[in-house]
Amino acid sequence: MAEDYPRTIMELEQRFSTEEECRAYLFSLRWPEGFRCPRCDGNDSWDASRGRYICRSCRHQCSVTAGTIFEGTRKPLTLWFRAIWLVVSQKNGASAVNIQQVLGLGSYLTAWTWLNKLRRAMVRPGREQLAGRVEVDETYVGGEEEGVDGRKTETKSLVTIAAEENKTGIGRIRLACIPNATRKSLHGFIRATVAPGAVIHTDGLPAYRGLENLGYSHEVSKLICEKDKKAAIRLLPRVHRVASLLKRWLDGTHQGAVSPRHLDYYLDEFTFRFNRRKFRSRGKLFYRLLQQAMQVEPAPYKSIVGGSQNPTHHKI
Ligand SMILES: [Zn+2]
Repeated sequence: MAEDYPRTIMELEQRFSTEEECRAYLFSLRWPEGFRCPRCDGNDSWDASRGRYICRSCRHQCSVTAGTIFEGTRKPLTLWFRAIWLVVSQKNGASAVNIQQVLGLGSYLTAWTWLNKLRRAMVRPGREQLAGRVEVDETYVGGEEEGVDGRKTETKSLVTIAAEENKTGIGRIRLACIPNATRKSLHGFIRATVAPGAVIHTDGLPAYRGLENLGYSHEVSKLICEKDKKAAIRLLPRVHRVASLLKRWLDGTHQGAVSPRHLDYYLDEFTFRFNRRKFRSRGKLFYRLLQQAMQVEPAPYKSIVGGSQNPTHHKI
């Protein structure tokens, strides 16, 4: 199917002014070859009311949004489409407050829940692993807070970053929270995000040793003076660049108000936008996000509030 998306907010407004228009668009993304029954894979259906379909072979009733992040929503799709446009059309995305205010949503919680559902759609199922030469490093995100008794409370999260070397620039990236900088965590991250055969470029942290046994080449750039920050940036410039952009985004757009248990989803949003930073049209991001939203399981509010530190979240 040719990639078909609105290019401007005017096109969005004209094209998606009714529920039927939104549903027809979702239909073309979910079933580009025509209806497919999610239960029996049959391809013949009756149209029922309110955009529902009944499978002619197994009588299963479903809608185009069943099984997706839109399942069970009480709000119109026209509003969702505008929320998605806000998220993709701005360089740094949108915060929940932003979405709530612009769309006039009654509750902050609704805007916050929508954003988290959309973040879940930002990881494409079965996406490729990184390849070629890949820089890998860890960084702390978040700040120390003064506890009530004056002692420092640790609220920093450890994030690993993998960035493909693309000549002097950066190719694709992958990010994930890890519990600690042990060999198990770092090797686990690399195995999940980088294809065997790649050259992994790290600093001299001993926990990275042994990557050869996992099918990678390992290139180590050791610092002469461990405290020399500028030298560290020169050795692994790409991961440091990504880390500083990530921190700026979390502090700016989200004002640092990201709890460690939700951080993984913010990393997904950052990665989604970063890896598509060269798309010339914002509408193409809109298309990609909706296309991926048609492929994921629904995320009920409860599972979003619980957050996830589950390492399988980032398995490929
Ligand atoms: Zn069926």
